[in-house]
Amino acid sequence: MDIKTIGVLTSGGDAPGMNAAIRAVVRYGLTKEFRMVGVERGYHGLLRGEFIEMDAASVCDLIQRGGTVLQTARSKLFPTPEGIAQAVKAAKDYGIDALIVIGGDGSFRGAQKLCENGLPTIGIPGTIDNDISCTEYTIGYDTALNTAMEAVDKIRDTATSHQRCSLIEVMGRNAGYIAVDVALATGAEMVIVPEKDKNTSKVDLVTRIVKDIEAGQKVGKKHHIVIIAEGVGDSQKLAEMIEECSDVETRATVLGHIQRGGSPTIRDRVIAAQMGMRAIDLLTEGKSNRVVIVKNGMIDDVDIDEGLAMKKSISEYKYCLVGNLSRGV
Ligand code: ATP
Repeated sequence: MDIKTIGVLTSGGDAPGMNAAIRAVVRYGLTKEFRMVGVERGYHGLLRGEFIEMDAASVCDLIQRGGTVLQTARSKLFPTPEGIAQAVKAAKDYGIDALIVIGGDGSFRGAQKLCENGLPTIGIPGTIDNDISCTEYTIGYDTALNTAMEAVDKIRDTATSHQRCSLIEVMGRNAGYIAVDVALATGAEMVIVPEKDKNTSKVDLVTRIVKDIEAGQKVGKKHHIVIIAEGVGDSQKLAEMIEECSDVETRATVLGHIQRGGSPTIRDRVIAAQMGMRAIDLLTEGKSNRVVIVKNGMIDDVDIDEGLAMKKSISEYKYCLVGNLSRGV
């Protein structure tokens, strides 16, 4: 594998720190004397040959910016055999010998197919949800947590003043990582995650919440903060049902896309720098079809096929700690 030109793209949902990763990939790639090419709009742009030459100046003033300067997209054509063939041809025609893909699981499945079809790839995990099984950490997670934490702190002020119950829905797709960490960091009374309650009926959830509110009132609590993951969802309906079953005023707040934006935290920038560097090093060593990961707190890498087959789940210990600390027992 004689690599002279490396492409880089961002795919799936955007995440704070993606820009810092692009900067690291480009700058470190240039120091290794690769020609660096940016692919705009993810796999959608790859198919259409939306390429831009990247030099050191093209990633100036980027490290602190949220979103992704290369933009991102979801492509229905790309996963098809014609789409993959078209993407590989577009890359090869432009002289791209290898591709670094910053995104989530879906994007890595795409990277795997490109590799099978003759375009070496390396994945870098970038998603606020932290829901990629092969890595302990995904770029964007820490920024999203901090954004959600600040929002919950603000809601808590008003919930306490009015002695309300607040249901606050955080992102995370089908996973409860954001919910559990935000609940711990904000001293929430309860956390509800899809890993535990995806199939629990609304009536059962409301019964559990109301019981918890009543227990809190007995020990003099002035608010009741419930963090609910989007994978459980329907927080508005739950809030209405709680009000019907108790004498406690209840409000639902869906934090939504506020969690996807903003300047990346130091953790996201530092991890992005390290992951970007490792991706280039892997290609330099002639390796491909690998994902850069955090394992035992250190930067590492794993085969994409193995990585996609792995499973991880929320920490049972942290999940239980939310309730234990809230009750003080
Ligand atoms: P996020 O977690 O932020 O949503 P993601 O990478 O999982 O990120 P997806 O929308 O699942 O986001 O995937 C991004 C793109 O990757 C898709 O639009 C599609 O083009 C491609 N892709 C997804 N799944 C596959 C697959 N099984 N094979 C090939 N390509 C895929």
